[in-house]
Order: sequence, then structure tokens, then C-alpha cells
Amino acid sequence: MLTLEEARAAILAEVSPATARESVTLSQAHGRFVAQELRARVDNPAFDNSAMDGYALRAADLVVANFVLPRHGECRCGDAPGRLSPGTAMRIFTGAPMPEGADTIVIQEDVRLEGDKVVFPQTAQPGSHLRRRGEDFRRDDLLYPPGRRLSAFDLALLSTAGVADIPVCARARALVVATGDELVTPGTPLRAGQIYESNSLATQLLLRELGAEAVNGGTVRDDPAALRELLKSSTDFDFVITSGGASVGDHDLVKQVFAEIGEIKFWKVKIKPGKPIAFGRVGSRTHFFALPGNPVSSLVTFKLFVEPAVVAWHHGTSHMLQLSATASNDFRRHPGRTEFLRARLATEGGKLTATALRGQGSHMLGPIRETNGFIRVEADSAGFRQGESVVAIPLSADIP
Ligand code: AMP
Ligand code: MG
Repeated sequence: MLTLEEARAAILAEVSPATARESVTLSQAHGRFVAQELRARVDNPAFDNSAMDGYALRAADLVVANFVLPRHGECRCGDAPGRLSPGTAMRIFTGAPMPEGADTIVIQEDVRLEGDKVVFPQTAQPGSHLRRRGEDFRRDDLLYPPGRRLSAFDLALLSTAGVADIPVCARARALVVATGDELVTPGTPLRAGQIYESNSLATQLLLRELGAEAVNGGTVRDDPAALRELLKSSTDFDFVITSGGASVGDHDLVKQVFAEIGEIKFWKVKIKPGKPIAFGRVGSRTHFFALPGNPVSSLVTFKLFVEPAVVAWHHGTSHMLQLSATASNDFRRHPGRTEFLRARLATEGGKLTATALRGQGSHMLGPIRETNGFIRVEADSAGFRQGESVVAIPLSADIP
């Protein structure tokens, strides 16, 4: 059985990254992965300009004129750069182009107006309150390498840099399928022995959060013929993600059918929850994940295995942030597998604490309400005591 790290490495080694790309607008590029180096089209700032509201002048003129200069002209945002008459001060506003001949801005709070004269109470440092052309970046500077996922802030930078069409990686197409004879869609009454299906929607939404296109493949019965049909029709997807039927029961057929039609790279990983996960390929395009059916196992294995695979497919790199936290309760167990406990992370005086939540059964979704991270327990560990250091994995930045 592979360890967590071996399984993750095996997946990354096997992923065939996207070759298709498309060009999108700035607003469409949010959350997409850059397909080709993005370089600045303009200098930023595009021209020397004022960082403050005040007066533009030549610093040397101040001393010569005994700190009083006639006010002459005005320069606003959007004006073309003017020219400073020697021995005068020009009114200027934040972002307005520096007039030719001026080398300094004196902020308006530091001056006094007397009629059409400006009185300067102190000397000015040449170059003060000036934003220099290109001091932020220059035309043709590299802004983003391929594989970078674009955030709202990134799109502000690209807008500033005049990049209007963005080459991005195609979105991965992922088919999501639940398997199990007992599963019923919420909204219909349950008959005896039935349960509501809960993995498929969460999986589709997690995929969309990663920038992939998720297709709802519905629920398939525990029937080899139906599963075969499904897998055979999945070869125009980049990913197929099933849940359920990946274990060792008589009706756990997904792995068997998958082995018939595709190639299994591994089955079972030394983790808890989520041990019976299978990964492999169908045809030359499709990456196949058979996730376990228990709702918590399905969520955990998605985060551990599907997420890095989908990001890598888009040429990106994903990081599982692992922080050290202080345990706020005891947790004891038998060593054996790397375990991910649903946990509540919090901060106390700027330091991270982690509480292992009650109800760690992989069928128990109730603790999800309080879960904002995992505690990672190493395979050889027998658990931890309150006050000890543990490894915490935040699932969001929403940590009180
Ligand atoms: P399996 O992996 O098919 O052996 O299923 C393990 C457990 O998870 C069983 O209790 C199933 O009823 C349950 N289960 C499987 N798939 C789902 C699903 N999509 N939604 C909710 N529970 C599921
Ligand atoms: Mg099942």
C-alpha cells in the first residue's frame, strides 16, 4: 500500500497537462491558469507624475527666490505634460504628469498662499513626492509565468499593464458520478434502506472552485454493465471522478470495471479516512479517480489527491499549507495510517490552536459545520495530548 506522499507523487507523475488553450478577456480570466508568459505592454508609471496634491517646482529655485515663488499654471490628471516656467510653482494634483523642468513636488499642506504667490516654509528635497516612469515595472517585463492562477489582484496588475487578452489554459472537463444502489437525490422521500446522495454536488463545486468544468454524471447503480457503459463513454473527459464502490465489498465494482477498461496506477493509500481510493487512466486522455463513498472520505481524498491533479493538469502547482498548532484537546489512537482529523482551528494571541472535533467517523458530516481545517496525524503516531504541537492544515483563511 502506498503512503500518502508516494500516492501524491504517483499522481503528479502521471498527469498529462493540458495542451489546449484559449484567449479570454480580463474579466473572463479570473480564476484561470495562465498558458503563456504575460509581459507588460506599458511602463508603470507610464510617465513621471505627482504622488500628492501640491506644487511642482525646481528645488534649486526655492533657495534663489527665498522660499516664495509665483504660482503659475496648473496640471491635472489626464492633462498632457506641461512645461514649468523657470522660477515659478505650478499647481499639480495626484497622478498628474510632472511638467517639464520641474523636479520636486511640495505638498499643499506645507505651503501658504499669499495672493498669487506660494510661500514655502522649508527647503524641499529634490525628487520628493514624485512617481518615476517605470519604477514599478517596465514594458516587456515578465509579469506572470505559465501556470499562475489569476486572482482579482492579478487582474488589477494586468489591467494596469495594458494586457487585455489573456492566453489561458483550457478548463479541465471533469465528469462526476456517484455510485450505489442506496442513493437517492435530495427532495424525494426515502424508502427503507435508502440514503440521500451527498458527494456528487460537493465534488462538482470543489472542481469548479479549482477552475475546472464539472459535469454531473448522476448516480449509477452497482451494476457492472451500467458502470462499464459509463466508463466507456468517459473518454472525452480529462477527469472522471466517481465515489463509492471502490472498497472490497461484493458490490464494490467500480475498481473492477475500471481495471477492465483502463489502467489502475494504484489502489489503496495508507491514510484515514479514504484508504480505498483508486487512481489511473482510461484511454490517453482521461484521469480516473475512484473515491471512497463515505462522505468524509470523499471530501478528504478530493483535497489530498484530486485537487493537486487538477491544478497540475492546468500547469499550476498546489500547496498543502501545513502549520504548526497547539492541540487544545487529547486524541489517542492506534498507529498505522496517516490520519486527517476534522478540526476547528483558531488563534489565541496570534498563535494557532487546533481542536480535534468529536465524531470522526467517515460517515459523520455533522462536524463539518465547525471544520475549518484538518489535524494531520503521522502514520507512526499514537495521537497527541492537549498542549502538544500538531500539524494543522487550514481549509480556508476563515480562522477566528
Ligand atoms: P462504498 O464506498 O460504496 O462502499 O460506500 C461507503 C459508504 O458511503 C456507504 O455507507 C454508502 O452508503 C455511503 N455512500 C456512498 N456513496 C455515497 C454518496 N454519493 N453520498 C452519500 N453517501 C454515500
Ligand atoms: Mg457503494
